Amino acid sequence: MFSKKILSVFCMSVFALTASGSSPDSLSSEKDRDYWINRYSSVSFPVKTLKVSSTYGIRKDPFSKKKANHNGLDLKANYENVYSMFDGTVEKIGSDNRSGNYVTMRYGAFTVSYCHLSRKYVNVGDTVWAGDPIAVSGNTGRSTGPHLHLTVKKNGKLYNPHTLLLYIKKVKKECVAALGGESYVSEPWSCSDFISRYAAMAMDHQRRYGIPASVTLAQMALESDWGQSELATNGNNYFGIKATRKWVADGKPYSEHDDEKRNEKFCNYASVEESVEHHSKLLTSKRYQRFCSFPATDYQNWLRGLIKAGYASGKGYVASCEKIIKQYNLHKYDILANKF
Ligand SMILES: [Zn+2]
Repeated sequence: MFSKKILSVFCMSVFALTASGSSPDSLSSEKDRDYWINRYSSVSFPVKTLKVSSTYGIRKDPFSKKKANHNGLDLKANYENVYSMFDGTVEKIGSDNRSGNYVTMRYGAFTVSYCHLSRKYVNVGDTVWAGDPIAVSGNTGRSTGPHLHLTVKKNGKLYNPHTLLLYIKKVKKECVAALGGESYVSEPWSCSDFISRYAAMAMDHQRRYGIPASVTLAQMALESDWGQSELATNGNNYFGIKATRKWVADGKPYSEHDDEKRNEKFCNYASVEESVEHHSKLLTSKRYQRFCSFPATDYQNWLRGLIKAGYASGKGYVASCEKIIKQYNLHKYDILANKF
């Protein structure tokens, strides 16, 4: 199974050498090329087309209809090949009422369990390369329809699979750019994916802090460019919140980016949840309370209050947030959050 990659890389190098002669320049650039090609194939999405159907964390359980913790991430997959996301070894193959048939792969400190499978291609102990088909997705175990559930653990602790998918996407994009290609890497996340991923969290915060879920979601989308910004992908900062002097003095993590000025310091967080929590605490601090004491169903006044309190300086800020709220009908979450 693992001769495939070595062979293809070997062939590529031989081809490159014979095709381009052997001047030192072309040699080193061919080496670079091989490096990027290897790096590109060191990661793989687990299914051909990525479409998230259920996110990691608190959600409404499809069976009990009650709020429950979802320990992984669901991807749309209709009895199709499932690919190993990285180079690794098959750690476990099993079957139970919950996960159905599953394959657990080990990738260094990480394990990834691919669940609800209909068929497996691998055996315990096999070495597998990123992109090798390991199984066929299915509908076994506790599942309401064919899909692929991923459970990820890092050093034995649950880990958000979304972070790994983003990493894969980032590596692929980098490689494509280095090889001088157009970025044809498919965008795994649409705007509506983004909203469905964070709506429950925003509603939870509305209940706890009184901030409209629509405002949280719109600010998040706008400030993080729908989760694509460097601050969001590298520092989990979804609101562009700057690091205060106290934040830095307390030894909390930050990174520097050019914003209105050069090398401004921005907060970094361990998770998206932490970023949303910081935002909620900020908006319910004294500075904002004066301007933002409105019911959670009144997002218009909330947005205007934020500007008065000095949250953003951009003129079109309110208009941009309102546009997102209307376009994606985010106000429904404000009403929903009030209901239960
Ligand atoms: Zn699931």
